[in-house]
Amino acid sequence: MFPLAYAVVEIESKASWIWFLELLIADLGIQNGLAWVFISDKQKRLIPAMQTVLPNTEHRMCVRHLYNNFRGQHTGLALKHLLWAAARATTLPWWEAEMDNLKKEDADAWGWLIERPAKNWSRSHFATHYKCDLLLNNLCESFNAAIIDARDKPILTCLERIRMYIMIRMANRRASCQHWRYTVGPRIFNIIEKNKLASSQCIPRLAGEKKYQVSQLYGGEFVVDLRAKTCSCRRWDLCGIPCPHAISAIFHRNEDIEDYLDKLYKKDPYLKTYGPIIGPVPSIDQWPRSGLLAIKPPNFKIQPGRPRKVRTKEPGEVEIPAPVPPNPKPPNWKPQPARLRRIFIKIRCKLKKAKLQLLKPRLQLPKPKLMLPKPKLQLPKPKIMLPKPKPNPKLKPKAKLKSFMQISKQGQ
Ligand SMILES: [Zn+2]
Repeated sequence: MFPLAYAVVEIESKASWIWFLELLIADLGIQNGLAWVFISDKQKRLIPAMQTVLPNTEHRMCVRHLYNNFRGQHTGLALKHLLWAAARATTLPWWEAEMDNLKKEDADAWGWLIERPAKNWSRSHFATHYKCDLLLNNLCESFNAAIIDARDKPILTCLERIRMYIMIRMANRRASCQHWRYTVGPRIFNIIEKNKLASSQCIPRLAGEKKYQVSQLYGGEFVVDLRAKTCSCRRWDLCGIPCPHAISAIFHRNEDIEDYLDKLYKKDPYLKTYGPIIGPVPSIDQWPRSGLLAIKPPNFKIQPGRPRKVRTKEPGEVEIPAPVPPNPKPPNWKPQPARLRRIFIKIRCKLKKAKLQLLKPRLQLPKPKLMLPKPKLQLPKPKIMLPKPKPNPKLKPKAKLKSFMQISKQGQ
């Protein structure tokens, strides 16, 4: 993240955006905007302002914000993966194939996405001369998170805190660059290492004049031109870092990858970028008095919802209330705050139930089939039958008679 410019405005309107952009154009010396690419969170008033001031500039929309709007109407993990696959596709045929897959999965979701111009959100439509393949606007969110404490302070304190933050940040970046182990930064080094590993699956074949046809083991033929620094997968063209196909061709020539890396990633341009320092400023009590009247603050009106201190929740997040305190409370008990948690979405396919049923067994563990046989050793029943006692005809009538006699005697 390299902060270029920031401004405090009374309201986020088209006029204030135009004012800011005109100052930015003057500062950066932008002629026609073709050499610059902008990425935003698709603010409503910024888009018309950009079209007025910089109509030729490539204006990208953050794909995470696009997906948040998308999933308001089209939920499901399968649709999410298809949208991201279409955004990450680097060539036009691959983008078309991903969009066809989305159409097969959900025609409504495809209809929603096809209305949004792909030049704003898919790498397949991005121009290659910017050497920037960013899909996300995380940089602005990181900056906003860093200055969140300053945003509700009085204007001078707010601006002073932001200035100090940027001053320290620039100095730290400059110092960290001195400790780089290689000629490129650690993030770029890791990307190159990852691409080197993937290049082991590529077989380069020289066609002549530094042009190669590269076969990938798992399918696909790619055309690499080392002189023009291009590959037909367009990954090298988009970001300036050689893709695995290009690296396999570079290794075939026994050359150094750094010679083919875009110069923007090297140490010297990095140091040159962070070279100018933001000067330290003493506190107000040390400032010389000008003798002029103090500037009065402008009319202040709190805009609804401003300054925003809490991050706007995404559609998938819910607030989990704080747990109920125990009764009686232990002496060292501390109340726990409420938390935010992302809810995992269940796949619910309305049309293709068969697919859902196919997925189910993968999630279930196989039942154990080791069934112990039932014991068959049954002991034979004892066949020793005792002879039944033979009834004594002489005893029974007497007993009956006696009992009858006893009853009759008792009754008398
Ligand atoms: Zn490639």
